[in-house]
Amino acid sequence: MTQTLTKLDDLVSLCKRRGFIFQSSEIYGGLASCYDYGPLGVELKRNVKNAWWTSVVQMRDDMVGLDCSILMHPLAWKASGHIDKFADLVAECKKCHTRTRADHLVDKEGKTNEQAQTAEDLSEMLCANPKCKAVGDFTDPMPFKLMFETQMGANVDDSMTVYLRPETAQGIFANYKNVLDSTRVKVPFGIAQIGKSFRNEVTTKAFIFRTREFEQMEIEFFCEPGSDEQWYEHWKEQRMQWYTNLGIQAENLRMRDHDSDELAHYAKGCVDIEYKFPFGQGDWQELEGIANRTDYDLRQHQRGMRSTTSWFENKRDTLATTMAAEKEDWHKGPLSFFDDEAKKRYIPYVIEPSAGADRGTLAFLVDAYDEEEVKGETRNLLRFHPKLAPIKVAVFPLVKKDGMPETARTIYDDLKQHFNCYYDEKSAVGRRYRRQDEAGTPYCVTVDGQTAEDQTVTVRDRDSMEQTRIGLNQLKSHLREKLDM
Ligand code: ATP
Repeated sequence: MTQTLTKLDDLVSLCKRRGFIFQSSEIYGGLASCYDYGPLGVELKRNVKNAWWTSVVQMRDDMVGLDCSILMHPLAWKASGHIDKFADLVAECKKCHTRTRADHLVDKEGKTNEQAQTAEDLSEMLCANPKCKAVGDFTDPMPFKLMFETQMGANVDDSMTVYLRPETAQGIFANYKNVLDSTRVKVPFGIAQIGKSFRNEVTTKAFIFRTREFEQMEIEFFCEPGSDEQWYEHWKEQRMQWYTNLGIQAENLRMRDHDSDELAHYAKGCVDIEYKFPFGQGDWQELEGIANRTDYDLRQHQRGMRSTTSWFENKRDTLATTMAAEKEDWHKGPLSFFDDEAKKRYIPYVIEPSAGADRGTLAFLVDAYDEEEVKGETRNLLRFHPKLAPIKVAVFPLVKKDGMPETARTIYDDLKQHFNCYYDEKSAVGRRYRRQDEAGTPYCVTVDGQTAEDQTVTVRDRDSMEQTRIGLNQLKSHLREKLDM
């Protein structure tokens, strides 16, 4: 039975100690809610992203990939609604001046009020600052803009405000036509993208769960109106399976449908895939959102495309630009799709499974964590699925003599061409096994005295700690089979 981590601090310290995740700019005292991935962390996160890409692009005939720039034409953010509406409602405690997202405040029973609009709605809520004991002493919630702005262009007369993208999705919508025109895809099809997003979050904390710079793994799946509900169900099932196939325990995962008052006005349905993080109040928290966004985004971008003249007239001031009204024959617009076989034209509906690479990595880390008693000592280990394990195989000489290091090096040099491997000859072999258990390495290969006699090595399994003798000529195929690679 897996021993769960109950304190966020324990995870933070494990991540630092073993080189998974560090605070950004730590030598300068750190930069709030920004994190750096260390040598093991970068491999883990890359494996999470690769597993996602394999599952949603490589393994499917109806999906293609994309990699868009972070900076986009500012009108794209006007059309998407982010410039005017992407804000959180924030309330300030009148006593200690801590600002918190109104929907994150809790009362003494731990309940939130997602719909809170006024100070009165917060009359039972506790201040989020643990040192402040104030109850219900808040200002009216005010909108706080979440997009980071920057200036593009060197000259005063041609510089303009641009935005660090708060999601990768809009780059996909802006390229949907390019993809249709340059490939053989036809609706139904989807576009996948992995990339950095930025949000000036009000409440951060919780380590890499909510940060101001993070990576998203997003899909926009375009389908014919009328087939959208079927595709929505398809993606819900696919995405749940992805997490469990990679080892997340089913009891720690659930789907939660959004209530009708939680739904965005254009969305027909939205579900969150949630993980039971064992921190704080042991809450279920969102890992991924899957939404039926209808034809909203493509129709909005058709309006955005028609607003460029007004934007130039307003001297490229996006805030001052008013979006063009929708044309009456919008369904025949430039982002419509013509179905050759059915001889029909329509604006596709979109199903959007949107996951966080960092949140996913955190969930895989937490879920893999285990502690067990072995011969009176605590063994800490990370039971990663082999596909996610940062190091697949560690190679050791039992001792540093009798030609063992040379043989072990030869094996390591051969294996590292196929798997991510690690060579270690320092300290007692038992300690080397424990270090690999803590890094989540599924197999350790040890060269010992018998190797020179019969050309065999031991292969130790991380989870069972069992050791099997394997002939050198079968080692690679044995590991390949075990690792499913
Ligand atoms: P939340 O309600 O937690 O702020 P959201 O509903 O705004 O999240 P989406 O806009 O649906 O999130 O983004 C899709 C996914 O991107 C989320 O499910 C999450 O995994 C990830 N994500 C969003 N914001 C952050 C963040 N600040 N830090 C890390 N990951 C994030």
